[in-house]
Amino acid sequence: MTIDNFNFNGKKAIVRVDFNVPLDENGNITDDTRIRGALPTLKKILADGGSLIIMSHMGKPKGKVNPKLSLSQIKDAVAKYLERPVEFAEDCAKAADKAAALKPGEVLLLENLRFYPEEEGKPVGIDKEDPAYDAAKKEMKERQKEFSKTLAGYADVYVNDAFGTAHRRHASTAVIADYFDADHKMLGYLMEKEVKAVDNILSDIKRPFTAIMGGSKVSTKIGIIENLMDKVDNLILCGGMTYTFAKALGGNIGKSICEDDKLQLALDIIEKAKAKGVNLLLAVDCVAADDFKNDAKTMICSVKEIPDGWEGLDIGPETTKLFCDAIKNAKTILWNGPAGVFEFDNFDKGSRAVAEAIVEATKNGAFSLVGGGDSVACVNKFGLADQVSYVSTGGGALLEAIEGKILPGIAAIRG
Ligand code: AMP
Repeated sequence: MTIDNFNFNGKKAIVRVDFNVPLDENGNITDDTRIRGALPTLKKILADGGSLIIMSHMGKPKGKVNPKLSLSQIKDAVAKYLERPVEFAEDCAKAADKAAALKPGEVLLLENLRFYPEEEGKPVGIDKEDPAYDAAKKEMKERQKEFSKTLAGYADVYVNDAFGTAHRRHASTAVIADYFDADHKMLGYLMEKEVKAVDNILSDIKRPFTAIMGGSKVSTKIGIIENLMDKVDNLILCGGMTYTFAKALGGNIGKSICEDDKLQLALDIIEKAKAKGVNLLLAVDCVAADDFKNDAKTMICSVKEIPDGWEGLDIGPETTKLFCDAIKNAKTILWNGPAGVFEFDNFDKGSRAVAEAIVEATKNGAFSLVGGGDSVACVNKFGLADQVSYVSTGGGALLEAIEGKILPGIAAIRG
């Protein structure tokens, strides 16, 4: 079943969206991209003559009510975009009456799902080492089923449009699907687009395939790096992890960011790339700074000859050329993680050059997928988001999908 071939006329649809938008200290939305991302799905249901029960999480309240993370703060924004009033249910486990009262075209927004420990299904306030943990976990899984059943009871049909949480088996992202027949559960438009973008990267790869992995640490990216070795022609590793590699190779890295317990892992990655015939590209030079701030003093030097007291905060000109050549020639591109501390204008040149090379390759027919919070922030900062093939809304979910893992949120619907 797809959202396009289902007629929502007279039906109540419960839709899991990702309205986990950033708020300032006064509760104002600072970036509404995620709300706008869900609109095509929500509008299609309303246009068919259906009614909407919208559910989402916000932040990490860890199973407790936290007014700072209340979705009531975004109710007006949702109403504005849907051009109609939005009813709010403060207790999402006791919203049956409000859901039952919905008429075609009406909208009900549920409170933050994660105010309930049942949403994530993890026992709260008990340590994993505690002998009673397993029993508590089992009990919570039962409560999670009950909670999912309650949510499912509000509606005739379930739509999941929250890619960012699709890698989690939570009540609203996966378990709830068990309470709907196969022809009454489906992915929303945003999810469909995300799945298609991942399919584009994983199947029918046009070569050369260049992946650019940046960000701060090797440790958080190791799963995807190892997995990509079986798929890519060029693997570019940049950002903070550069210095773990440089140190592992015997370089002096000054006070650059480094994971000292991952030096052997870095050497293993180099060996693995050789064994698999992958062209591994590491930074050779960098823009080093005498302090971690935008207006620090800078110098260009080899990543292996950074003076004491200095740290590498961006890739240097030689590296930029090396990387950009491998990007411009590519026919498939994946970018996750910035090349440097792009948040500082004086250290965003490397990331900007990477983004521009991706745009150029895309113009020449490459498929380019940019995903993971910080690289998305990068293309947004440079105003290039609409010049790459696809910008994913998923961080962890995208990486797990590309690692080839089956995402629970998608499996729950597709079987
Ligand atoms: P991640 O969340 O692991 O993708 O890392 C993203 C963060 O890595 C961004 O906030 C960047 O500022 C940071 N980063 C990139 N390059 C460096 C670097 N050379 N030194 C310190 N942090 C870096």
